[in-house]
Amino acid sequence: MSEAVALTRSLVALDTAGHDESRAVAVLAPLLESAGFDVSTVEHAPGRCTLVAEWSIDHDVPPLCLSGHLDTVPLGAAPWTHDPFFAEQDGDRLHGRGTSDMKGGVAAIVAAATRLTSGRARRAGLRIVLTAAEETGSDGARAAASLLRGRPSGPLVITEPTANTVAYGHKGALWLTGRAVGVTAHGSTPSLGVNAITRLAHATVRLAHHSFRHEAHPVMGEPTLNVGTFHGGLNTNSVPDRAEMTLDVRTVAGQRHDLVSAELAACAGPDVEWEPLVDLPPVWTQPDGEWAASVASDVREITGVTQPGPRGMSYFTDAAVLAPALGSVPTVICGPGEPDQAHVTDEWCSTSRIDESVAILQQLCRSWCGL
Ligand SMILES: [Zn+2]
Repeated sequence: MSEAVALTRSLVALDTAGHDESRAVAVLAPLLESAGFDVSTVEHAPGRCTLVAEWSIDHDVPPLCLSGHLDTVPLGAAPWTHDPFFAEQDGDRLHGRGTSDMKGGVAAIVAAATRLTSGRARRAGLRIVLTAAEETGSDGARAAASLLRGRPSGPLVITEPTANTVAYGHKGALWLTGRAVGVTAHGSTPSLGVNAITRLAHATVRLAHHSFRHEAHPVMGEPTLNVGTFHGGLNTNSVPDRAEMTLDVRTVAGQRHDLVSAELAACAGPDVEWEPLVDLPPVWTQPDGEWAASVASDVREITGVTQPGPRGMSYFTDAAVLAPALGSVPTVICGPGEPDQAHVTDEWCSTSRIDESVAILQQLCRSWCGL
């Protein structure tokens, strides 16, 4: 078993489903320190630890930044066939929560980085950011960004699951709560009240049929809107005076979230008050830029696969916070997990893809750092 696969197994054994990323940091920090990295950590809440490691960054060219998240989503209600924390290997498949999303990608970063530091970087150094709390809106990445503010940065590689293809960005996530108020009255005399549910229901139906003003993105396609929850009323025989719904809007590159919010508020009408829940902008890097093109050719060299065209992911990543905080640096997403295995019961990751990811990351580091 390779070092990266063994490390993935040790990370999967730690339950970090929305808590205790500090346990993963306790495994990874000593490996990076003994490979010559300067490691700092920041906790945005008890046990929610984010790690920043830097090596040889004293160059005129800013360091390449590799990043992944240490938390996972919970297991869900359905029973698992494989123990989600044992990381059992069955042929090429490693089973367990977080194998694809994204402890395999984190292990690949650490395995690649710790191998490279025996060499000398002639051009630039390396920075590794391993975050807590990505799954719930990137609070760990925000903590890392505050630690890194003002430090020059080179491009960013996020090893979220792409099955080792190159994605040049991802959709943005704008989650909103919409609320309508009314006036309560007895259910037998509805004309004496104002029904908050019907007010909000009319607005919700208009929103569900809304066509965004923005043109489709050539790679990401159209923005989407989903009504995720709808609650209102307390008892059948009263006119409800309060109703609430949540929207999950996925935006494409070029859309500004303040304008999208205003567009949706106008569509919903004056009866609905809005409150933002999550606001993570879309991320996009031009595939024909110098560094992005060199990534594509490095990845093609290692995998032997020519991608049919540029790709963008529908899920969001910490890049939505890190890329702007680091100075709008060019960003790609390329990691060993299978995109369709993220968040599912009986999640698995291909071990050969984890090893291939180590080779890809080493090649990207050699190209940028002059190793
Ligand atoms: Zn993820």
